[in-house]
Amino acid sequence: STVYLNGEYMPMSEAKISPMDRGFLFGDGIYEVVPSYNGRLVGFAPHFDRMNDGMKSIGIELDMSHDEWREISEKLSEANGAGNLGIYYHVSRGTDTKRTHNYPAGVKPTVFAFAFEIPAEPVADKTKAKSYSVSTSDDLRWKRCNIKSTALLGNVLHYQQGIDDGNQECILFNAEGFMTEGSSTNAYIVKDGVVITPALSTQLLPGITRLMLLDILRKDGSIQVEERPVSRAEFDAADEVWLSSSSKEVAAVVSVDGKPVGNGQIGDVWEKAQALFSAGKYNY
Ligand code: PMP
Repeated sequence: STVYLNGEYMPMSEAKISPMDRGFLFGDGIYEVVPSYNGRLVGFAPHFDRMNDGMKSIGIELDMSHDEWREISEKLSEANGAGNLGIYYHVSRGTDTKRTHNYPAGVKPTVFAFAFEIPAEPVADKTKAKSYSVSTSDDLRWKRCNIKSTALLGNVLHYQQGIDDGNQECILFNAEGFMTEGSSTNAYIVKDGVVITPALSTQLLPGITRLMLLDILRKDGSIQVEERPVSRAEFDAADEVWLSSSSKEVAAVVSVDGKPVGNGQIGDVWEKAQALFSAGKYNY
């Protein structure tokens, strides 16, 4: 596949980064993933606003405009078949000669991007949609989960926990027993027709799918939305549980720790929400 590295396009096999890169040594970087369906990007502007916020919050200075990012996205989509792609963008603090924890002076950030295949756009049909089973766990990650850091070990360990249990994701709860998010997704419950998800905080990533979904639901107005804490008891009594991410869009969870959610089937509120999301997602 064709990738982008520091201003140039090349085959993946020719892309080389020094082992002294701080992305490799420290996970010292920020990343994004933007879905691209037949060349159409979903949520481009909010994804790159978040990328810029992330770089600012860890002191990486990179002078790249939305237009430059868009050009990379378009070139990578074209060079890689323009089908169903996730475009991954990674900015590390750069390559230094020494391994010191402090930010080195005068080092240029390393910028890398590549495209990978993702599933076709989800269809809002509860009889055909992919459903998910999840594990649950105490959230053992760090206290700045709002930063989309490439240092994902905490998330990797929780994701693997789900896989080891035979599930596809792991939903996390903080020390007070409130839901934070999934290891690679935002999380929601539905109770009596109301969609409830935790408000943004340092305990979860401000997901772009979440941002778009909540905006779309509020503008439509037929499904009520609440951003507030979700206790473990409320989670266990939910009618529906959902995940959201750039590659899964809105995903219905039908099994938690081996027990069915509600009646164990994908719910009606999910079907309606995914339909609204499908109809509105290209407006961002
Ligand atoms: N939370 C975490 C921890 C994530 O890694 C992701 C992205 N995969 C999300 C939430 C969802 O974010 P987005 O909708 O922007 O993909």
